[in-house]
Amino acid sequence: MEKIKMNPIVEMDGDEMTRILWKEIKEELLLPFLDLKTEYYDLGLVSRDATDDQITIDAANAVKRLHVGVKCATITPNAQRMEEYHLKQMWKSPNGTIRAILDGTVFRAPILTGMIPAYVPTWKKPITIARHAYGDLYKGTEYRVPCPGTATLSFKGIDGTEFSQTVYDYECPGVLQGIYNKDSSIESFARSCFNFALATKQDLWFSAKDTISKQYDQTFKLIFQRIFDEEYKQKFEDAGITYFYTLIDDAVARVMRSEGGFIWACKNYDGDVMSDMVSAAFGSLAMMTSVLVSPDGNFEYEAAHGTITRHYYRYLKGEQTSSNPIATIFAWSGALGKRGELDENERLQKFASDLEKACLDTVKAGTMTGDLANLCGRKGVNSLTFLKAVRARLEEKYA
Ligand code: NAP
Ligand code: MG
Repeated sequence: MEKIKMNPIVEMDGDEMTRILWKEIKEELLLPFLDLKTEYYDLGLVSRDATDDQITIDAANAVKRLHVGVKCATITPNAQRMEEYHLKQMWKSPNGTIRAILDGTVFRAPILTGMIPAYVPTWKKPITIARHAYGDLYKGTEYRVPCPGTATLSFKGIDGTEFSQTVYDYECPGVLQGIYNKDSSIESFARSCFNFALATKQDLWFSAKDTISKQYDQTFKLIFQRIFDEEYKQKFEDAGITYFYTLIDDAVARVMRSEGGFIWACKNYDGDVMSDMVSAAFGSLAMMTSVLVSPDGNFEYEAAHGTITRHYYRYLKGEQTSSNPIATIFAWSGALGKRGELDENERLQKFASDLEKACLDTVKAGTMTGDLANLCGRKGVNSLTFLKAVRARLEEKYA
């Protein structure tokens, strides 16, 4: 068979067990079938430290240039990692750095095999959570109030606008918090969601609490509606999909009764909580796709889980591990499929979907890693055995 040709994507290598899986996935599932073209960036912690983290910035800029990237899980250093790797600095989370450069929204969806029943019996199709990853509680300012007194909220504009009002007259000790967001970030969140809904042909729900938060959440609601009306209404009609806003409590009730198969856009905190609820109810983090979509049309695919450190330490002792490579394979298939779509490269798009199908068929036929085997009372195989089983299916198709 003639190998499938493609234009380059950005490849970001990572750490520990996922770095081992990364290499095996390329050798077993990509290189035999593709004339694989990537611009390679080693985001492993050793290389980030050696380049003073410049490599992460270069990789993110490369995604802006080539529009598609695939990233392996990476270590976000803490004090213990500083010692373990003799780091010059406690480098920031690569995902945070990349997100700050690309801007946008993280979309996470479960990968369904039918082997592991969802805990919610009505859920038949994946529910994708679109989480705004900026501001709110995560950049809040807060105080412990030690004694009775007055808390005020005030603003001073560069144009002279000023306002100030009492938040509360404390008659006893308590707590106080200030949070913010900005229109430009909410606008790019909205556009990312509308674009992703169009790209995946799924309805979009957005939920907040504007009845209670009459300025803050109301701003999110109004910005979404304005951008929808001005830029997306016709495109949604043409694609046969819908957008609607509802209160978060109503959304929760509807989600529980739904069949799935839609995108649920959430503010930062809501998205944090709801994405764990959705992934737990569908199975595990090792069965989630994750993609960062930027408002100007760049896509970065990754697995939702980390570097699986505990398995890596066992691997270093010479043990075979049963780490699940599916989320990392789907990061590759997502990126290859998107490259194919942007370039109208049908063979590449077909390969990406065949690769996903081969993974799912392998699981359905009963060959799976330990994490999934445990959930459905079977015996798991090690990672390489699983990859070889997927490869055998692909070879059958591409012989
Ligand atoms: P983790 O790597 O996601 O692993 C936590 C546990 O979940 C594992 O010990 C394993 O459980 C299970 N697990 C996760 N992925 C699995 C897979 N593919 N197959 C089988 N089991 C899987 O999280 P962590 O141990 O908290 O973090 C490890 C490192 O990853 C940290 O240095 C963190 O900074 C980094 N991290 C990176 C990213 C990213 O780059 N996107 C995200 C999160 C964390 P058992 O041990 O019980 O089998
Ligand atoms: Mg969370």
